[in-house]
Amino acid sequence: MRRVFLYILLVFLVACEGKKPAEPKTETQPRAKVIVPDFNADSAFTFVKAQTDFGPRVPLSSAHEQCCEWMVEKLSEYADTVMVQQFRTRLYNNQGIDGKNIIASFNPKATKRIVLCSHWDSRPFADHDPDEANWNHPIDGANDGASGVGVLIESARCFHNQPLPEKVGVDIVLFDLEDYGPRQDQAEQYYDDRRNYWALGSQYWSAQPHVAGYKANFGILLDMVGASEPNFMKEYYSQGYAAWLSNKVWHVAQDLGYRQYFVNELGDPISDDHLPMNEIAGIPTIDIIDLRPESSNLSFPENWHTLNDNIENIDVNTLGMVGNVLMHFIYENQ
Ligand SMILES: [Zn+2]
Repeated sequence: MRRVFLYILLVFLVACEGKKPAEPKTETQPRAKVIVPDFNADSAFTFVKAQTDFGPRVPLSSAHEQCCEWMVEKLSEYADTVMVQQFRTRLYNNQGIDGKNIIASFNPKATKRIVLCSHWDSRPFADHDPDEANWNHPIDGANDGASGVGVLIESARCFHNQPLPEKVGVDIVLFDLEDYGPRQDQAEQYYDDRRNYWALGSQYWSAQPHVAGYKANFGILLDMVGASEPNFMKEYYSQGYAAWLSNKVWHVAQDLGYRQYFVNELGDPISDDHLPMNEIAGIPTIDIIDLRPESSNLSFPENWHTLNDNIENIDVNTLGMVGNVLMHFIYENQ
């Protein structure tokens, strides 16, 4: 993902003028007591490590291929259905490339649907590494990619052990090709305001979902949910498209005692997988993403797009906190 600068933000403000996302109707009847599954942070960590153990999951690499097979196998243990959506797209340099989105569904017949998503590819360029010699090296993407996927695979295990209410269906969507934008030092040369070089898997799925006529009530994207002492701010576009949703999720987090990490402040606009979901698919979607206004690396954690984004810098407590928020939100608030 990348940060969007102010001039784009202004266009967005103008484009969104007068549009207000609708508040969903609140239920009035009393609800039966629900049992929220125990999200196991250690298990989530092993799912993150299993991915990074393959090496950088750069499209066209054997690590990418092997990790895809592993995720499908793992999700098949838990979900009602798992499918791989293959697609062909173009990179920033016009090279054609094949991608794979992975979709694991629970209660596939339920009409109320929630999308939980992350990207599973890792960036081919460590272009924010302090050492310029590393800029062409791929990253492990332990935080940027694998952390969200790890939390979602553990969530799948929870949905399997403690079935969701019948009326609620969940689709876990793992997007490919989120992080294959041009190297930062070449970004200007490839600039084209008609194209978004990021979130290619999400752009494809949002235009052609895995099920014809697919509709979901809302979506939650996880990105960089594994660093120590995270700072989850209410990302700018998420607030624009689905403020009611981030407000609810942050409320759950605060009730669980995570006020210090789910901060009630507006964050920078980030171009990420949630943008096509909001703009193309029309699914109100928020991005839970670690934003650090004080960082020297744009507004991201210091290891972002560097070779240090590896398993040593994943904090099991952060994975557990995010998973716990998701479980409480999904089981207690539908
Ligand atoms: Zn990235």
